[in-house]
Amino acid sequence: MTTPHHRAADLPNLWLPYSQMQTTAWPVTAAKTAGSTITLDDGRVLIDGIASWWTACHGYNHPHLRSALVAQAEAMPHVMFGGMIHEPAKRLAARLAALLPGDLERVFFTDSGSVAMEVAVKMAIQFQLNNNHTGRTKILSFRGGYHGDTLGMMAICDPEEGMHSLFAGVLPEHIIADLPTDAESTHKLEQLLSERGDEIAAIVTEPLVQGAGGMLFHEPAVLQTLRTLCDRFGLLLILDEVFTGFGRTGTMFACEQAQITPDIVALSKALTGGTMALAATVARRSVFEAFLSDDPSKALMHGPTFMANPLACAVANASLDLFEQEPRLQQVAQIEAQLRKELEPCRDLPNVRDVRVMGAIGVVELTAIPDPEELKCALLEHNVWVRPFRTIVYLTPAFTIPPEELSHLTRSIHSVLQSHA
Ligand SMILES: *Cc1c(COP(=O)(O)O)cnc(C)c1O
Repeated sequence: MTTPHHRAADLPNLWLPYSQMQTTAWPVTAAKTAGSTITLDDGRVLIDGIASWWTACHGYNHPHLRSALVAQAEAMPHVMFGGMIHEPAKRLAARLAALLPGDLERVFFTDSGSVAMEVAVKMAIQFQLNNNHTGRTKILSFRGGYHGDTLGMMAICDPEEGMHSLFAGVLPEHIIADLPTDAESTHKLEQLLSERGDEIAAIVTEPLVQGAGGMLFHEPAVLQTLRTLCDRFGLLLILDEVFTGFGRTGTMFACEQAQITPDIVALSKALTGGTMALAATVARRSVFEAFLSDDPSKALMHGPTFMANPLACAVANASLDLFEQEPRLQQVAQIEAQLRKELEPCRDLPNVRDVRVMGAIGVVELTAIPDPEELKCALLEHNVWVRPFRTIVYLTPAFTIPPEELSHLTRSIHSVLQSHA
């Protein structure tokens, strides 16, 4: 590092996410973005392999997103959503309903993935209560899952990721199982549901890819199994498409690959093309109808201050325009083919355990990464922005990344892993 400081703890005022500030290196400072690049304050240009936590699916500073944002800023940057609606939200809700499978048609807007999932869980539990199914207060989720950082979501994350032991006594206790990926785990889950199904309101999972859990992939058949079990035991199926939504796995939504319709789906991350904080919880008609009553206590009691922020809704509409006007899913297929070809040589490196690709997600899994921070810095030397974590180095680039920039990313990863092996 060229800076005299070396620890994040020496930064004035800022407290960084997911960081032991004592040992984390002084962070780089971003100054501007364009396409798939981030320019730092010292003029260095980094090629971004992760699209700002996979939000910037159209690349940075897309002119269509920018002009939508500017036009909305001039007309109405924000207005409350209590007792008042607006055109950008109405239009976005209609478009999301049209894109999602089945009768997923009621859209509740929030401003982060965690809160969208909180709302999904509240909906599911109250759905059961409103239908007089009392006692169904638990959520069944899966090892390796990640659904956000709020206390409610920590309780349904992987026990380690959710720090269940550290926060014991604070977090509500839910039920964590193994994903039904084979006959044995499916049988175990069936048995669990036969015994405790009537305590459970919903099953929650990320479809096809458990992202923060280590980019773990599973087959579409797993989702079909979950759909069948939910129907059999009277549970709702909640899919957390915060990571997978909007093309990342090769289809607009991951659940399409299993040809199932969840009862509730949560969307965020790429919803605004990486421009504004926005999230949506979308429910099927039957879920919504359980809240219709003369009884005010059967209403869904939730309402973030910045709910359906017009700037965010306008830019999300513009992002959906780009999915219609530009060949995003073809670009994802091209990225998939290129990642398969170019990451494959990593498989022969000594500490590599697996190389896997799905859509615009490329993963190199190692036996261990003793110091992810050091690996990140080595990649920075190649002007590459990626953030290894746990045992993986992964790429989730913008769908618009030029092939030569993607090659620079894959070559740099190979080269750095080779010299670190
Ligand atoms: C990022 C993520 C979340 C949390 O979203 P935030 O906007 O960070 O609250 C939830 N679920 C999944 C699958 C995610 O990838």
